[in-house]
Amino acid sequence: MKIAITGASRGIGRTIATTLAAPGRHLHLHARRAESLAEVASEAQQRGAEVTVHGAELSDKEQVRRLAEAFGRLDLLVNNAGVGGHEKYAWETSPEELEETLAVNLLAPLILTSAAISYAEDQGVRIVDLSSGSAVTDTEKSADYWISKTALMRLGGCIDKAGRERGVKIFEIAPGVVATDMTAAMRAHDGRTEWTSATEIADIIEAVATGELDALAGCHMRAGTDTLAELRARAARGVGSEERRLRLTPWAD
Ligand code: NAP
Repeated sequence: MKIAITGASRGIGRTIATTLAAPGRHLHLHARRAESLAEVASEAQQRGAEVTVHGAELSDKEQVRRLAEAFGRLDLLVNNAGVGGHEKYAWETSPEELEETLAVNLLAPLILTSAAISYAEDQGVRIVDLSSGSAVTDTEKSADYWISKTALMRLGGCIDKAGRERGVKIFEIAPGVVATDMTAAMRAHDGRTEWTSATEIADIIEAVATGELDALAGCHMRAGTDTLAELRARAARGVGSEERRLRLTPWAD
């Protein structure tokens, strides 16, 4: 099984990489600089995986296209790398700041996902987007980040609708709130004592890799709220096409 994980050098991506590492799997691990992947690559190899490391700046579309070519045909793409955006009100956020955030959080996943679908031809591919509670809520600060995650989820919905028949299965999975460099830099999390463990989302992604959660393709899931046992049970029961999607909320009465 050939798996690519962006942003695997630290934080959630690193835990996903070590959790998915197993004999018979070839992991393509990405970070800005390939050298920063040395430790996670060695841990993944000790767990029996074959590993290739890649360096690419995801705000640079040409570098992302070259990364997609280097990944080639994949069984699973995990769009994990992301930036936290700017902690400002929407009206204080400059177009340049929004562009910066969208480049990494939306356009890079779009390029990588498009390439993965194209390489898969009609053989199918699984894709995981690291979503967020911010995809489905409003915010006061960090509007650029919230916008990027909502747009990523809508992109996932469009890909699910158009790609199902050719075997594309895309999953929008939010990690809860995990203690990482990203959350440490966000004042919104100052003083927080309750965190989600990164292994919770990594275990859900492992279940995606094996196909156990295929019935939940197109849905939004959230580690820390949705347990793996609940997701497995829900996948076995099946879900409707309107469940856990980005939709307009009804009037209250
Ligand atoms: P993190 O600790 O800040 O790690 C970010 C990863 O992304 C690193 O591997 C970093 O690589 C890579 N990356 C960042 N900017 C990049 C760029 N411009 N080009 C290439 N690679 C870049 O983040 P995290 O908290 O683990 O978050 C991982 C994902 O989960 C993100 O998509 C985030 O939005 C999402 N998420 C996280 C939380 C949370 O509670 N932590 C909550 C909701 C959603 P380098 O080491 O090379 O910089």
